[in-house]
Amino acid sequence: MDTERVPRERLDPAFARLLVDRDVPDLEGARWPAYAMWLDSTLAYVNPAYHRGMPPGWGLGARVLDAAGVLRAQLEAVHDEACATGHAVALRYACPTEQSEREFELRVYPLGPKGAPEGLLAIHSLVVEHAHESPQEAHEARYRDLGGMIRHCAHCRRTRRAGAAEVWDLVPAYLRAVPHGTSHGVCPPCAAHYFGGDLGDEPE
Ligand SMILES: [Zn+2]
Repeated sequence: MDTERVPRERLDPAFARLLVDRDVPDLEGARWPAYAMWLDSTLAYVNPAYHRGMPPGWGLGARVLDAAGVLRAQLEAVHDEACATGHAVALRYACPTEQSEREFELRVYPLGPKGAPEGLLAIHSLVVEHAHESPQEAHEARYRDLGGMIRHCAHCRRTRRAGAAEVWDLVPAYLRAVPHGTSHGVCPPCAAHYFGGDLGDEPE
C-alpha cells in the first residue's frame, strides 16, 4: 500500500510501516470500510469509505472496541484469534435493507512480524446482496414466528429470525419503527456481553 499518499488525518505516521508492504486490496478506493489499529484497538488508519459509515469523532485515536457496543465481546475474540494464529479471521454479519438482503464479511488480519503482531487490519466487504421479492413480505416471512410475533433484543434491538433462534439481524426498518406484535428477549451477543452468556434466548 502506498502510504505516502494517505493524509495524516487518516493514517498515524508511526503506523505506516505496518501497512507499507501489505499485499492487500486497494483499501483507499474500496467501497466499504477498512481500518487498521494498534493491538489495544486504537485506530491508526481509516480508509475514505470508513467515514461514510461512522459519525465524526470515531477517527484516529479512538478505540474500535469502545465503539463496538454490544459486539465488543465478539470482536475482541476475533482480534485475539488473529493475533494468536497469525492468520486472517473472518466474521459474517447480516445487514438487510428494505430493498435487499445483505451479508457482510469482516476480515481481521494481524500486522507485523509473525508470532509478534503489532497491529490489526480490518476489512469489511459485501458478500451477498439480492433484492427482496417484496420488502414487507420478506421481513414478515423471515421474522414473524408461527404465533405471529416478532422477537426483539431488549438491549440492541436486533431481530430474531423465525425458525433460527440463534440468528439475530439488525433490520433498519424495525429500528426506525417497532413493528406491531413485538416481544422482547436477549440476543446471543448481548447475553455474552451483559450476562456472561447464560441468558441467551431459549430455542423454540
Ligand atoms: Zn442484543
